[in-house]
Amino acid sequence: MKIEKNNYLKKIPKVDYIYELAQKRNEFKGIYRKIIIRSIRKILEELRILIITDITKVDKDLLDETNILDKVLKSSISAMKPNLVKVINATGVIIHTNLGRSLFSSKIIENLNIIASNYSNLEFDLKTGKRGSRYKCIEQIICDLTGAESAIVVNNNAAAVLLCLNSLSKGKEAVISRSELVEIGGSFRIPDVMETSGTIMREVGTTNRTHLKDYELAVNEQTGILLKVHQSNFGIIGFTSSVDLIDIVKLGKKYKLPVMKDAGSGYLIDLSKYGLTKELTVSEIIKTGVDIVTFSGDKLIGGPQAGIIIGKKKYIEKIKYNPLNRALRIDKLTLAALEATLMLYQDENQALKNIPSLTMITESPETIESKAQICIDFIENLNCNKLTYSKLYLSSRVGGGSLPVEKLKSCCVGLKIHGMSVNKIYNHFKNQEIPIIGRIENDFFIMDFRTVKQNEILIICETIKKIV
Ligand SMILES: *Cc1c(COP(=O)(O)O)cnc(C)c1O
Repeated sequence: MKIEKNNYLKKIPKVDYIYELAQKRNEFKGIYRKIIIRSIRKILEELRILIITDITKVDKDLLDETNILDKVLKSSISAMKPNLVKVINATGVIIHTNLGRSLFSSKIIENLNIIASNYSNLEFDLKTGKRGSRYKCIEQIICDLTGAESAIVVNNNAAAVLLCLNSLSKGKEAVISRSELVEIGGSFRIPDVMETSGTIMREVGTTNRTHLKDYELAVNEQTGILLKVHQSNFGIIGFTSSVDLIDIVKLGKKYKLPVMKDAGSGYLIDLSKYGLTKELTVSEIIKTGVDIVTFSGDKLIGGPQAGIIIGKKKYIEKIKYNPLNRALRIDKLTLAALEATLMLYQDENQALKNIPSLTMITESPETIESKAQICIDFIENLNCNKLTYSKLYLSSRVGGGSLPVEKLKSCCVGLKIHGMSVNKIYNHFKNQEIPIIGRIENDFFIMDFRTVKQNEILIICETIKKIV
């Protein structure tokens, strides 16, 4: 046995030798040397381990050069591909944090392209020829769209909340209702962010009910800020009571304390016109007289990842000159994408047409059904008796902590494949060259066509054919 093992081990070819062979094969053209070498090492190491641990699985074929080269090729091709790849979102969740949240339309990409591949006036004032402000290009447009006095943008909304609290309430107490101590996607928890910012959390009220007097009783000489946070990804129903922002603002005025609202998603358009639940738009929030509002750039705004901070000039200035701001600043690509996105909001129809998240939210059930129908017609033509399908009128969700209880009427295709578990179907779709991410419901593999683009339908059809 030992002799056999040693014989096999001796037969493992040298790395250089395999590399030489690879160079003679056309398929390796264009693949970087380092990647080929790494793949060869990996394949040979796997072979070595197999010989040592389970000789019964080793035969002559395994040590065959062509066989080894094929494996090296496969591994090299896969190593040449980026790890961040396009997927098809058939989950029906529009602002899907795990799948990249917001998409850019060609209008935004155009602007990105120019700024990314050229020098720009990022921090150069073209009027004076002197050093300029990075935020100048978007400050005016944000103020115009929201009615705020002043604005600044940071890396994301989590950073925005952190920076605001650190700038305005470090070492002091921030008063917040117990119903608003939310967790958003695991890594963002209001109590943790407050602690990191250096502010002291002063919880008031209860989970379901908080009254104005609770806030007022908590105010003392230690108080730094009154904070209100959007509940984002859950709703409290039943015996509930909360304090309107406008009343907290009055309280803030009375005690000369800044009032901050973390709006989470941020609406620049009143989507209740399109049948969604009424939520305050950012300009309506500003109208309450609140001092600071923060919201995400890539949730309902539909732009790049960013945290937008707006409000009273005297507070924004304080935030701007906080050294932490430098650490949380956005890059030129974010600025370019954000400016292009905000530009579209100057005309609501343009925004709805050119900001994919808004287009998907307002897409009519008929349009979605017509997309699903293409898939169903294809399935019918397949004439495959292993495949059970069903057109299901289920609901999509906005996602990203926006409108948590909102259900948007949608049209889905449900699949069952005889002899295959629904989990297995899910994985098959997920493991495609272009992964297709669906969901599982009622023992069906479900694809919601609201979040599927027109040019992705055919890819889905071909995948169904391939899998059955
Ligand atoms: C989503 C959300 C955040 C975090 O925003 P990111 O842009 O994801 O960092 C903070 N607060 C609220 C209320 C949110 O909904």
